[in-house]
Amino acid sequence: MEIELVKGDITKEKTDAIVNAANNSLLGGGGVDGAIHRAGGPLILEECKAIRSRQGGCPTGEAVYTSGGNLLAKFVIHTVGPVWKDGTGQEKKQLQSCYLQSMQLAEKLKIKSIAFPNISTGVYGFPKKEAAQIAIETIKDYKASSIELVRFVCFDEENYHLYKDLL
Ligand code: ADP
Repeated sequence: MEIELVKGDITKEKTDAIVNAANNSLLGGGGVDGAIHRAGGPLILEECKAIRSRQGGCPTGEAVYTSGGNLLAKFVIHTVGPVWKDGTGQEKKQLQSCYLQSMQLAEKLKIKSIAFPNISTGVYGFPKKEAAQIAIETIKDYKASSIELVRFVCFDEENYHLYKDLL
């Protein structure tokens, strides 16, 4: 499994799936969530609402999927990162779980490539260096079956440089 790093906008990715840093409601929000819903069109939100009516949103650390709507990616995997408090709670475990569950869901969908944003490092306030370490470690340790490519898509310069150093 190859690991790549790019700087840019995840909504432009051509990987089979892109991951969304969603919130528990699955109803969209700001940051990367807003960008994905804007670029992907109303179908993604409709499918999110259907998931909500089945299971009532998505718990922190878990992942669900929808189609990619108008995006180039066939699927959007919506995962809910933890809100950073002080690091003494479940934050680190939950962030790791986001990456793990997204990978497991991608394998269930039998896809070959997946792109991740820097989950929880925006409004949710997770310290960027620690988040990057967790993301990279979790992906490096993952024993993939169908997935051949994982691409980390960093939107901001700080994350990009942190990932570059760590990778
Ligand atoms: P969270 O609530 O999980 O913190 P945010 O969307 O606020 O989610 O931020 C998560 C990360 O997504 C941040 O590092 C932010 O820079 C990045 N981001 C924002 N817009 C995009 C985009 N279009 N493509 C990729 N990453 C993005």
